[in-house]
Amino acid sequence: MENYRQNADFKRRILVVEDEEVNREILGEILGESYLVSYAENGLQAWDMLHDHSVHYSLVLLDLLMPKMGGIELLEKLRLKEHKMAPVIVMTADETAELTSIKLGAADFLTKPYDMPEVILARCERLIELYEDQSLISAAERDLLSGLYSKEFFYEYIRQIESYQPDRKKDAITLDIEHFHMLNEMFGREAGDEVLRTTGKILTEIFGSRGIGCRPVADVFFLYVDHAEQYDGVFAGLQEELARVTGIPRIRFRIGICQDVDKSLPCEVWFDHAKHACDVIRGDYTRQISFYNEETNAKDLYRERLIKDMDEALSHKDFVVYYQPKYDVSGSRPRLRSAEALIRWKHPELGMISPGDFIPLFESNGLIMKLDNYVWQEAAAQVKEWKDEFGLTLPVSVNVSRIDIYDPALEDKLLDLLRKNGLNPEEIMLEITESAYSSNAQGLIETVNHLRETGFRIEMDDFGSGYSSLNMLTTIPIDVLKMDMKFIRNMMKDRKSQKLVELVIDIARFLEVPVVAEGVETEEQLQLLQEMGCDIIQGYFFSKPVPPEEFRHFIEKELGEKES
Ligand code: C2E
Ligand code: CA
Ligand code: CA
Repeated sequence: MENYRQNADFKRRILVVEDEEVNREILGEILGESYLVSYAENGLQAWDMLHDHSVHYSLVLLDLLMPKMGGIELLEKLRLKEHKMAPVIVMTADETAELTSIKLGAADFLTKPYDMPEVILARCERLIELYEDQSLISAAERDLLSGLYSKEFFYEYIRQIESYQPDRKKDAITLDIEHFHMLNEMFGREAGDEVLRTTGKILTEIFGSRGIGCRPVADVFFLYVDHAEQYDGVFAGLQEELARVTGIPRIRFRIGICQDVDKSLPCEVWFDHAKHACDVIRGDYTRQISFYNEETNAKDLYRERLIKDMDEALSHKDFVVYYQPKYDVSGSRPRLRSAEALIRWKHPELGMISPGDFIPLFESNGLIMKLDNYVWQEAAAQVKEWKDEFGLTLPVSVNVSRIDIYDPALEDKLLDLLRKNGLNPEEIMLEITESAYSSNAQGLIETVNHLRETGFRIEMDDFGSGYSSLNMLTTIPIDVLKMDMKFIRNMMKDRKSQKLVELVIDIARFLEVPVVAEGVETEEQLQLLQEMGCDIIQGYFFSKPVPPEEFRHFIEKELGEKES
């Protein structure tokens, strides 16, 4: 693949550190045609310039006697070897200074007054080339199998290319051979090697002078190539060619591409990003190429973080259960009737996280079961505590995710809770969202029937958000209907939405179950619902979900009003 040295587009940069203007001019004349030349008037200025990492110097020409900071002092400070700095040529009339400079890491000398211009130029060229070769060789080794570079060499090479072509747009690509270990097992190591060798060869053919490649680990390839807007068809021939050469049909690849890499980040990160894009389509047989996107990456990282932190959060009790009251408004004054348990995550570093951010995530990977069990335990203990303290039963509804329904031990777990806390099944009510009914109707109905036989009461949550037909409703066993919040939100807006609310209330009446309106925020909403005959109200109008210490005030108030 490409050798950037042959590219005439770019010039290396040399830093001339010299206090006398006439000398700067002479050197500028000599070097200016082949190189970009920067100047510093003393060691201090040079120190600052060398530490500006946005500029790469291939060589430093250093005078020794200068005001502010001389050449020897600068060499001492730079400690060239340790910091992998550019090579330094010391310029001096004093031959005794040579030894000191060598010890301090200078690579060559120019004696003053200056030699012939061609000599100076030739020595600069030679030294630059020597250093570049050396740093590549020290990182060297090609991967013998694929013919591509080794990882260390690859990254070093990229850094060099970058120092000469910082403005050129580039793409980072990772290519993963799927189930490579299986290929090895099924066809033998030899065949596996042949796949890697051929892949390396084809990739070199595809990208030719447009990039470089390496094989960082067994079945992964990295490519660093000139930017392309799209990659349609670029990898198309790879699979057939592999099949033709190796005789193994349908070898699959996953390709992740980070386009127009962010040059302010280290090159290793570009490939992390490409790899991340590649991992996204793992197991998705409809997609071969995936592009990195900053936004999704940030989201994915956040989600990964939440998954990683969950166990610890459980043991640290960073998950807190809040309670939101439900009031019965059928009589002359609202009566506290029950509460809904709603989880909150007080993350020590990320702050308060709302369930909307982690419940769907934990539902997607099954962790929700653990979390819900925790919430149920907390809720049951709370019900018992209030029962003991106030001598009253305040049923609490807990949310049961559709994933929990698949848990064969669900009923046992719930019964166990009751036993431990000395509760009856009516004291823990179960909210199941309507969409769960449509996705797994038969299984769900069986489970729910069981639970009801045991004595639990089931509330259908978010009713009206899903697609359950009236027909289905009549066969589904439920005890309470919870109207979806969006009905309440729209109710005041137009007549039609209000009609829908009436319809839901009618359905509940037909099923002979009470209906709960949640998300009630205003007095007007409350009144209208009362007029329509909706008896149970949950919403900010009465209270937001609150921690148990705050919730007890609602109980105390209720008890106080009862007495008076
Ligand atoms: P949900 O079960 O429908 O819970 C009602 C949501 O509406 C709660 O949001 C509640 O805080 C909010 N809400 C209540 N009254 C009002 C109001 O007047 N106005 C507005 N704008 N919102 C109101 P939250 O606590 O953020 O929970 C969101 C969803 O997360 C819940 O919806 C439920 O699906 C899920 N969730 C919460 N806790 C748990 C849990 O312990 N287990 C499971 N599986 N899901 C949970
Ligand atoms: Ca709920
Ligand atoms: Ca709801």
